[in-house]
Amino acid sequence: MRGWRGVATGRFAPSPTGRLHLGNLRTALVAWLFARHACSRFVLRVEDLDPATSRPEHEAAQLADLAAIGLDWDGPVVRQSTRRAAHDEAVAALEHAGRTYPCFCTRREIQAATRAPHGPDGSYPGTCRHLSDAERRDRLREGRRPAVRLRADGAVVTVVDRIHGPCSLVVDDVVLRRNDGVCAYNLAVVVDDAHQRVEEVVRGDDLLESTPRQVHLARLLGLTPPGHAHVPLVLAPDGARLAKRHGAVTLADRAARGEDPLAVRSVLAASLGLCPAGERPSLEELLGTFDPERLPRSPWVWTDEPSRPAQG
Ligand code: GLU
Repeated sequence: MRGWRGVATGRFAPSPTGRLHLGNLRTALVAWLFARHACSRFVLRVEDLDPATSRPEHEAAQLADLAAIGLDWDGPVVRQSTRRAAHDEAVAALEHAGRTYPCFCTRREIQAATRAPHGPDGSYPGTCRHLSDAERRDRLREGRRPAVRLRADGAVVTVVDRIHGPCSLVVDDVVLRRNDGVCAYNLAVVVDDAHQRVEEVVRGDDLLESTPRQVHLARLLGLTPPGHAHVPLVLAPDGARLAKRHGAVTLADRAARGEDPLAVRSVLAASLGLCPAGERPSLEELLGTFDPERLPRSPWVWTDEPSRPAQG
């Protein structure tokens, strides 16, 4: 449609595990505005790595919902399930560089062990980090199949987020490939953002904590990490992260209540301070008022009153 010439290629990367809800759609809208406001490309990636939870019908519904609120994207949609060879190659490169180790722990064993000193909550306690070759062979003989973990060596990485500012975290020994052979999100996201030449990652701020480890992985793989903007989440009135159980939260639910997709988009835009509540601005008008510096810094508390969104 337009001649994209910017240098901040953006993306939206949903997991096709269900319908997008208002929080997902709001993040998609912000990601699109970031890219298009900078006259940049905007690409889509379907994060369907996990065959147990991903469904083609959810992907189709998600893409239709994005289009229904007027969002467009450049080039073909990339499915992560088609990118396994590249993910495996990245794991092999890290293995070759001595940056990984096999981990034989079960989830239960990890929960039972105390958490890693100085590591983030829930981080791996390091049980398999220093196994000898003989100990590894024993576990393989027992029929245990290892996952591959990053040997992070307690690296501390600082990321300067466009919305949250500087964020420093200790990188934990995250799983890169599960023991069923499925590559982990943190590895795949880094490899695929680089493949799609993504320069600015705009996503929900529940993923802010994952960002230092992704930046660390990108650097280990010799890739240039993208910039980041983590958008505050949408919360339900009970303070929990918005989810399906909170009521009519998808476009289909809203349509059943007589609210068309552009009315939903207007509610989302108003929640971002881009228009007064009740107005129905076009995307061109939203691009005119969008200012990344003036995005809300706190969550939006959604109440089921389409014309009067509550500001959190
Ligand atoms: N696929 C992830 C999700 O739907 C988002 C990953 C990302 O944006 O980095 O939550």
